Amino acid sequence: MAGVAAKPEIHQFPCLKDNYGVLVRDPTSGVVAAIDAPNGDEVAAALAAKGWKLTHILTTHRHGDHTDGNLPLKSATGCMIIGPKGEADLVPGIDKAVGEGDTFMLGSLEVRVLDTPGHTKGHITYWIPSADVAFAGDTLFAMGCGRVIEGNMEQMWRSLEKLMKLPPETVVYCGHEYTQANAKFALTIEPENEALQARVKEVEAKRGRGETTLPTRIDVELATNPFLRAQSLAIRKRLGMETAADWQVFGEVRERKNKS
Ligand code: ZN
Ligand code: FE
Repeated sequence: MAGVAAKPEIHQFPCLKDNYGVLVRDPTSGVVAAIDAPNGDEVAAALAAKGWKLTHILTTHRHGDHTDGNLPLKSATGCMIIGPKGEADLVPGIDKAVGEGDTFMLGSLEVRVLDTPGHTKGHITYWIPSADVAFAGDTLFAMGCGRVIEGNMEQMWRSLEKLMKLPPETVVYCGHEYTQANAKFALTIEPENEALQARVKEVEAKRGRGETTLPTRIDVELATNPFLRAQSLAIRKRLGMETAADWQVFGEVRERKNKS
């Protein structure tokens, strides 16, 4: 089956207070990547539990809750660290800087890079098209999105639009378990959305059982995430923004979340 990559094995685990660590293993080559490294000890424990040997760290953005494990893991394993070109100087231990349109091989898996700035100025998303999976860091969350810290609202909207255009079946891993708080807020923006109502019930039941609500999927987010639904007439009417640009509607939703 030359040219056909096997599906990666993916292991997600809670880290720190509300972060997620993710390990991706290419069964063909045995290559193992950590998507972000919130904490060296916790990532090392997850690797040991799986019996996997770390070869790469893929950093989505420079924040400490995504990079504090970089140097300890690199010195313990000699792994290669790939990270965002737009903030390469702020990523500990970076070996290779990547940005929009770049592709690289993770063993037999082709990874594509999307620039998704806004939360930080250089934030990137890693997408593996052959596996229909993307790692969005702190750009997109279940029913939420990252705080717009270093960029502006229009830039963050353009970043989210890129993710919205991924194939709808794309499974998305995110940096944090913020789902319950996001769900509560989402209902204040679009209470009449039946898909959202159903999802909120599902999420509450899952968290009640102590289960994770991630990863999510692009189609699920398109239907229920108020930050992606700037075109919803119900949302526009509620905000009194019927004629505003999509990014402005997004910006107002983001402002309201900041104050919630
Ligand atoms: Zn962050
Ligand atoms: Fe974070």
